[in-house]
Amino acid sequence: MTELAWRAKDMLLGHHTSWTNNALDAVDINADQKEEIRIGCTVNDLCEITNETYPFILPQQILSSVITANTVYESKDDIYQSFGTMPFLFSNLAIFQSHFGSLASLHAMAKKNQEAPDVTQKEISSWFDFFNILAVGSLAINPQARIYQDNAALRSLFFRCRKIEYRQLFDTENYLEIKSRAVGMMCHLIQDLFTFSHCERNSKNEIRKFFYYELQDKEKHKQGDHVAAGLDQELLTQCKLCIENTARNIPYDYKQILILSQDAQPSDGGNFT
Ligand SMILES: [Zn+2]
Repeated sequence: MTELAWRAKDMLLGHHTSWTNNALDAVDINADQKEEIRIGCTVNDLCEITNETYPFILPQQILSSVITANTVYESKDDIYQSFGTMPFLFSNLAIFQSHFGSLASLHAMAKKNQEAPDVTQKEISSWFDFFNILAVGSLAINPQARIYQDNAALRSLFFRCRKIEYRQLFDTENYLEIKSRAVGMMCHLIQDLFTFSHCERNSKNEIRKFFYYELQDKEKHKQGDHVAAGLDQELLTQCKLCIENTARNIPYDYKQILILSQDAQPSDGGNFT
């Protein structure tokens, strides 16, 4: 991988962890919870491999029949470059679906070109609702259950990736870790909702368009992975609210950051094509 690509990767994860750390500094919860929330905010990007360090080895069963088993890759970016054109092969990999497939709403993005904005909005709402009930402890899941079979609210999102299990999404089977990671994953969603290359907002801070990643130039997208001008404080406030409220078993109210503008448009690549 090029030097630039490495830096961009680190910037991306740094972007999420630094905003989450800023919010965590301001709240009073125990250190273990903080650590899992910090991990959680990177899980949207790295689900299934957050417990691994680079270089890592993909599980043999996933790679069987197509590529040499136990192939060592330098990073997830290498995997994308190698297999990014084979969605059929990776339909049951959460990490693949969250970037190239049907789970793009985990990054506040549309899963296809010209998707109606209210469709993407509804999917993002489903994620927040799901993470909220986990975070406040009012839902218990079997980590080994297939999400498509188990969760009516998320079923349509997993229509094309029916084998994905909860533990693949959270990269853990531990109940307490899942509970805190759900909070971190909401922080990631909040951060992406205010990120320039993910969706466009108008001057009233309403969403005008969700972007579609596949149409974007990947380098341009990464360069646009920063908070839209003037929204830093709002982003931090929302992350703090999310962490503080869920710690008190109050669901995070995400509705105000998901308002669509009157002239909201179907998805495209924006200025990042
Ligand atoms: Zn993201």
